Formats: sequence, C-alpha cells, structure tokens
Amino acid sequence: MHEISLVQGLLKQLALLAAEHGSKSVSKVRLEVGPHSGIVIDSFKFGFEVLAAEIDLTRHARLEIVIPPLRYKCCYCGHVRQTERLPETCSQCAKTLLVPDGGDGLILLQVEME
Ligand SMILES: [Zn+2]
Repeated sequence: MHEISLVQGLLKQLALLAAEHGSKSVSKVRLEVGPHSGIVIDSFKFGFEVLAAEIDLTRHARLEIVIPPLRYKCCYCGHVRQTERLPETCSQCAKTLLVPDGGDGLILLQVEME
C-alpha cells in the first residue's frame, strides 16, 4: 500500500522535528492532502493509527486531515476554476481542455508537541 510508505515518511519527519525541539510527545498533526494526490484518506488514517501507536513519540497523536477544494486550469487561457468536479468547458474561453491545478501533494500544516 502506497499510503503506508507515506505514513512512514511522515513519522520520520515528526521524529526529526521532535528531536529539533527536544519534544517527547506529539499531540496533534495537521496535514493537507491534495484532492488530486491519489492518496486514499481512509488507508492513510488507518496506517497512521497502526504505525503511530508503535512509537512513543506519536502514540497519543491526533491526526487531522484537511482537503483543499479541487481546482482545474484551462490549457488554453490559463483560467483557474475552483469546482467540485472536472468542468466540461472553460468558463472563460469555452475550450474543453482542462487539467488539475496543484492539489497533488501532502503538506504538513501544523504539529503540536509537548
Ligand atoms: Zn480557458
């Protein structure tokens, strides 16, 4: 599962942050998961629950996931539109070639440590 390796990467990042700040425990982790990232949120949450529980540092960490709205960009005029699903045509130039705009990453927004 792709999500497991992402969780492992996140836990490594948290361990580094905690070491930098001399913290012993992470209480909250806030992540932004792009709607175009292909990450299955439920699998990611499950992976986090299982793996974080095995480490003292993250045993009590709460995971909060924020999903920003979908955005699509027109390949012709560059117009970006925020929308629920892929629009059929650009609202500016009425062309039909639209691609996802950003939203394909996993961003660590906030970490609370004790
Ligand atoms: Zn356009």
